[in-house]
Amino acid sequence: MPEGHSVQRTANWFNKHLAGSKVRVDSPQGRFTDSAKLVSNRKLIRARAIGKQLFLDFDNKKTVRIHLGIYGKWRYFDSNKVEVVGQVRARFFNAAKLADLRGPTICEVIETELVDQHKKRLGPDPTNPDPKKLNQERFVKRVRASKSAIGLLLMNQSVISGVGNVYRAELLFRAKLSPYRLGSSLSQKQAVELWQDAVMLMKVGVAKGFMVTRQEQLSSRKIHDERNYVYKREGLACLRCRSNVALELMATRKLYYCPGCQK
Ligand SMILES: [Zn+2]
Repeated sequence: MPEGHSVQRTANWFNKHLAGSKVRVDSPQGRFTDSAKLVSNRKLIRARAIGKQLFLDFDNKKTVRIHLGIYGKWRYFDSNKVEVVGQVRARFFNAAKLADLRGPTICEVIETELVDQHKKRLGPDPTNPDPKKLNQERFVKRVRASKSAIGLLLMNQSVISGVGNVYRAELLFRAKLSPYRLGSSLSQKQAVELWQDAVMLMKVGVAKGFMVTRQEQLSSRKIHDERNYVYKREGLACLRCRSNVALELMATRKLYYCPGCQK
């Protein structure tokens, strides 16, 4: 499942290559054909990533809302003459560039004025600018007021949007926090630092295009195979305390953490 940094990269691609031009939209597979007609050949004003959702605003007050879900995928091309391969739900293109969308959970056209309602339901997104630290404050308040485990809160898109299983595991490891700690047990400082670490790590993810969380690799230009501390490292020695990394289920999702040093 893509996490927020990859949705931000998609928005960047749309803003760089399609925004400002008339965009043709169609649905080779057919399931999005009628909706595509509502925006096709209109000018794309901008793309916005909010959490795991992408919003494409067109100049007729209509917006395409997309959530990739578990199976959704984007492919981008430097040409607009590309053979359709497989089930392409939606195709977006101008004279020079083309993007194909396959398998999204949501791909629909909504009125642009409704985007704010979707936004309100979503928690603050660490990849969005936050000059007045309002997003940080929202996150910190919500976490510290909650009797839920922090491991659940980080996966709750109304608390923080864009974080998925990888960042959840890695953020908690970096913070030395057990995923079972209740939100209300975190100090103000711990909650602020958790948010700021998410902002920093997801920024790196947007820039690099993949999720790297090991400190020594954050500024490295080399691509390493092993980029994470605990994610998918169950049974292996913790890189900090040498205990075995655990794999458990939390609300049906896999949870990776180190019982030795995450307290
Ligand atoms: Zn450890």
